[in-house]
This record gives sequence, structure tokens and C-alpha cells, in this order.
Amino acid sequence: MPVDTHCPYCALQCGMRLTGTTVAPREFPTSRGGLCQKGWTAAAVLDSPGRLTTPLVRTGGELRPASWGTALDTVARRVRALQDTHGRDAVAVFGGGGLTNEKAYLLGKFARVALGTARIDYNGRFCMSSAAAASTRAFGLDRGLPFPVSDLAGAGAVLLAGANPAETMPPFTQHLAGAELVVVDPRRTPTAEAATLHLQPAPGTDLALALGVLHAVVADGHLDKAYVAERTTGFDDAWRIAAAWWPERVERVTGVAAADQRRAAALLAEAGSAYVLTARGTEQHAGGTDTVGAWINLALALGLPGRLGSGFGCLTGQGNGQGGREHGQKADQLPGYRRLDDPAARAHVAGVWGVDPDSLPGPGPSAAELLDSDARALLVFGSNPVVSAPDAGRVTGWLAGLGLLVVADVVLSETARHADVVLPVTQWAEEDGTLTNLEGRILLRRKAVDPPAEVRTDLDVLAGLAVRLGQPAARFPADAEAVFDELRRASAGGPADYAGVTYDRLRAGEALHWPVPRVDHPGTPRLFLDSFAHPDGRARFAPVDHSGPAEAPDDEFPLVVTTGRVLAHYQSGAQTRLVPELASAVPSCFVEVHPDTAARVGLADGDSALVSSRRGSVVARVRAVASMRPDVVFLPFHFAGEGRANLLTNPALDPVSGMPEFKVCAGRLSPVEVR
Ligand code: SF4
Repeated sequence: MPVDTHCPYCALQCGMRLTGTTVAPREFPTSRGGLCQKGWTAAAVLDSPGRLTTPLVRTGGELRPASWGTALDTVARRVRALQDTHGRDAVAVFGGGGLTNEKAYLLGKFARVALGTARIDYNGRFCMSSAAAASTRAFGLDRGLPFPVSDLAGAGAVLLAGANPAETMPPFTQHLAGAELVVVDPRRTPTAEAATLHLQPAPGTDLALALGVLHAVVADGHLDKAYVAERTTGFDDAWRIAAAWWPERVERVTGVAAADQRRAAALLAEAGSAYVLTARGTEQHAGGTDTVGAWINLALALGLPGRLGSGFGCLTGQGNGQGGREHGQKADQLPGYRRLDDPAARAHVAGVWGVDPDSLPGPGPSAAELLDSDARALLVFGSNPVVSAPDAGRVTGWLAGLGLLVVADVVLSETARHADVVLPVTQWAEEDGTLTNLEGRILLRRKAVDPPAEVRTDLDVLAGLAVRLGQPAARFPADAEAVFDELRRASAGGPADYAGVTYDRLRAGEALHWPVPRVDHPGTPRLFLDSFAHPDGRARFAPVDHSGPAEAPDDEFPLVVTTGRVLAHYQSGAQTRLVPELASAVPSCFVEVHPDTAARVGLADGDSALVSSRRGSVVARVRAVASMRPDVVFLPFHFAGEGRANLLTNPALDPVSGMPEFKVCAGRLSPVEVR
């Protein structure tokens, strides 16, 4: 029986029809019948030989098969012992942006009620946190795209800053076909190849570039004065800084010609309908929130946000990167995108959960801080920080020092290999659940195939653990629709209000973008058309200035190392590296480098190179690419072993968002010594 569902990977959530394990694309507004190679091959992970099919418990130094009863009893007993000795916060929880809304919700409730720990965060902190912080600051609300993706089709111009959708979400590019495209990226990516104008700044200087384009907007008479006066506050303070960043000065810092900055300003201003979109390239910096804020300032100066046919948005990466940050697995939030430190929010959610609001812990540390804390145990659901966390070598050592590491996953990821207990869980096509895509639309992903016999849902796992930790069974339902109905009540009245979303409405194919406060409410595909979400209804310019990356090149490490993704793989690669077609397309880590830069250290295309930073070294195959800046090398972060790019990256954090600086560190290139 064919089942209409969605791809398990990125936030575009392309429409897919599954017949058994046979994938076919289907019409859906975000993907328009398209799938990328990850989507076409997604079913291979369902019956992959790498699939986990039984719980594993470490005994005698080895992970050995165990019954579910033994595995869950072991976890509960050791959690209790650690908390009895070291306090509630001795146990931490790490979630993922690929978890369904139901899982993210129940995980947050499990941490705060069953464990009573403040230490819960998730890998979305490494993905969208700077965009979320900047959007909340500017607009009073964070929904990645506050308009449907399909609105982009009418745009005259689109500026993509630090986004490479031609590789990360190829069907998305259909929506850009009619627009003049301005791409800001240190690399000449496939997206940049298709652009009208490619601005190629040095990594870590994009905030300065945004200031230069803003300067050109004002100096060349493109400022939308009426919009700025009626719909915004703070322009004067932002302009005071941008006034000192005239394009020629910006050219000296970024390497982008002043004329190109002015051309970008003119293309956007004269398009009639224009969008500014950002992604990880702007966000994954120690100044990521301010960098996104600088692009928002540009969009506000042009009068784009909250205007039909124009806008500002952030392209979400992970499949449920949007929903995953709305319902409680984030360190500072409660369901409905409520703040954990808001007494009214605590009272509301505690009421739904049937607990005393004062019993709920307060905000905890962000993901990278959590992975460097004095916690004694970590429970990981749907994440692989051994590969995806910054300064991954240090994180691996931290995990090894824990008294207890528990990993729930579909495959034996690199993190699971270090675990004391591994819990095999169901994946996308084997369970019901909802996700919220990059445009804030809630989608139902339905069960299409049976899971392996000894595999359970994450909801089952959480329910089983909660009961063993002394919680009433009724407080932790394991049925996805029952959990969603509770989530609806917990989110009611919050910014991300799902109260009116039901499984029946989703089964009927209704396009419901949050907020949906009532069951007779049609949803909100476009936000901010009348007013922004701040009390005065106005958007806020941010007075942001360029300060540069946390770590600059020097004599010892003379290159800038930047990281990112490739078409064939997804995130830490734990799933896609198991798919034969994807693994053979890009089998191992590579380093993109200008041929002259490679030649200077005796390397040529195809050679093995050692890429080093102050934190570690990676072996990668040289890809000599003439369009690379001579001062920059690029590595994808999807690989493990000696090709683990995050061994290099800098854990310096954005002070607002907690985002690590994945996009810039100082590095060195050398031949691999043959012994
Ligand atoms: Fe679509 Fe993203 Fe899946 Fe590719 S990975 S098929 S772009 S949802």
C-alpha cells in the first residue's frame, strides 16, 4: 500500500511516496516533485546491514546484546545512583533536530520532570541558534521562513548569504529560477555558479560585507525611508556604525570589490520584489547572531520583511530544525517556543504536565557548554556529537570520562560506539510523527513499514525510563498522536501555538503553518504582514559591528579552514555513509584548496593532505579548485575517523546564541608523511 510521506533528511521535507521500501517523488509545494539523491536513496537505511536491531549493554569492555528490560533497568539504576551522589544536574540530555515534534517535546518533559535536570540541549544549537536569536531580536519571533517557500517564485532578486541550496536542498532552487541571484559565499559553490553576482568574502568577514552593502543602499539612495519610519526602530544607531563601513573600506577587509557591493544593493533595491535569505555560513560564527542581524538590517533598510512578495528568512537545515527548537529540548525553552524563565510559561506548562511549577529546573547550558560540563552521565537521542561537535577530539575525551553514556539511535554511530548502553530506535518510515518544515508548516510523517522486531520508538524508550525513574505511566504516553495532543495543549497561547493542529487535519492534507490557535483556524502562512511581534509592532535594527573571527591565521597556521556540507551526505553522515550510492559518490573527507596553495606545500590534486589546526589534524584528499580563495581551505564535516573535520574546529561560542565557530579557524596544510 503506497504511503505519502516526506524525506527523512533536510528541512525542505520533500514530498515522497513509499511503497514498501520503494521511493517515488510526489507533488509537494516545497519540492515540486523533486528529490535529491539523499531522498531517492533514503529507504536504504531502513534495511541497512548497519542498522541496530537489539539493545546493547557494555559488559567486560564490550557492547553486547541485551534484553530491553536489562538495558532500561541498567540506565535507570545508574542514573539514580549518579543523581543520588552528585545531584540532579549530574545527568544531562542531548537531543537532535531530526527528532519529531513529539520526541522533542517528550524529551524536554522527560529531562525536566523525570530527571529534574537543567542540563538539556540539542544539536540544533550547532545549526540554527544564531538565526533564531537574531530573528527573535529583530522581529520578536523566530520562524525560519515567515512565508511559504512558494512565495519565492515571484521574486525579482534573492540574496543568499552563506547558503548553498544547490547542494544541501537541490529542489529548493526551482523556486529561485526567475530571480536575479546574489550569492555571498567564500567558495564558488554550485549555487554561486548559478548566480547573477557572486560575492566571495574571506570567511568571517560577512558581517563587514553586510555593512558595506547597507552603506551602499543608503549612499546610493535605495533606503526605504517610509518603511523604516513606520515599521522599524533603531535605524540611526545601526547606521552610525554602517556609515563608517563605506564599500572601499569593506573591500579591504572582505576582498569583495566595492562596485560589486553597490551592484548587490542596486539589484535588490530595483527588483520590485526581493528576499534576503541566510543559512549556516552566516550563523556558525562566534559573532553569528550579529552577522545574521547585519543581513536583517540590510533587509529592513530595503523595506523587505513583512511585505507581501518580499522578505527576510533563514533556511533551516535539519529535518525538524524548526519544530525541534520549539517544544522543549532547547536549554532555555518550554513547549510552544515559550521561555523557560517566564513564570507564566512555567505555570502553564507545569499545569499541563501535572507538576509544581517550582519543581521545574531553570535554563541550562548550551550544547557545547553542556559537552564541557561536570555532568557524570549523558543521554543522547538522535545526535552524533563525536562527529558533529566542535573540537571533536576534546568532546570525545569528555564522553570517555563520563560515568554513563546512553545513546538511542538507528545505527551504531560514532557516539554510540563509546556508549555504555545503546538503545535501537525506529526511524522515519517506521513510525508516525510530525515535523515542522523550514516555512513553519507542520507535516505528518506516517508509518509505512514495520520496524525490526527488537526496535522501539524513542517515545517508548522515554516512557519506559520515566516509569523506572518513578513517574506515573500516564504522564509519559508512548503513542505519537497522544503525545501530540498533549503538545498542542502545552503550546497553546505560546508563540508557536499548535493548539488547532490535529492529526486528522494533517491527514486531510491541510497546509497548517503555525501559529494555529484553534481547530477552525486556517494557520498563518505569512507572518508580520501587519506588524512584527514586538510589543510596539515594529522590527528592530541591531547596532552591529564587524569584529572578525575568534581565531585569525598566523605564521604557524596561515590558512583559514572552513567547513560545510556536500550533496551526497547529511549532517554527521551516520546514515548517508551507510547508503552505497552516497558512500561511493563521496567516500571520504577531502580538502578543497587553490592549486597554487597546494603546490606551495608540495601537494597536487588527488594527493593525501594533512590539515591541522591548534586542536587536531585530519587526513583528506586534495581537491585542487581554481576558484578557491588562496587563503582558504574547505572540508566537509560528514566523515569519521581520520577525516573528522570537527577535530579542527574552534569551540569559541557566540555569547547570545551559544553557536560555535564552525566556519572559521586557523589551519595548516602539509603532505601526509609516509613512514
Ligand atoms: Fe529533499 Fe532535503 Fe530530502 Fe534532498 S535531503 S530529498 S532536498 S528533503
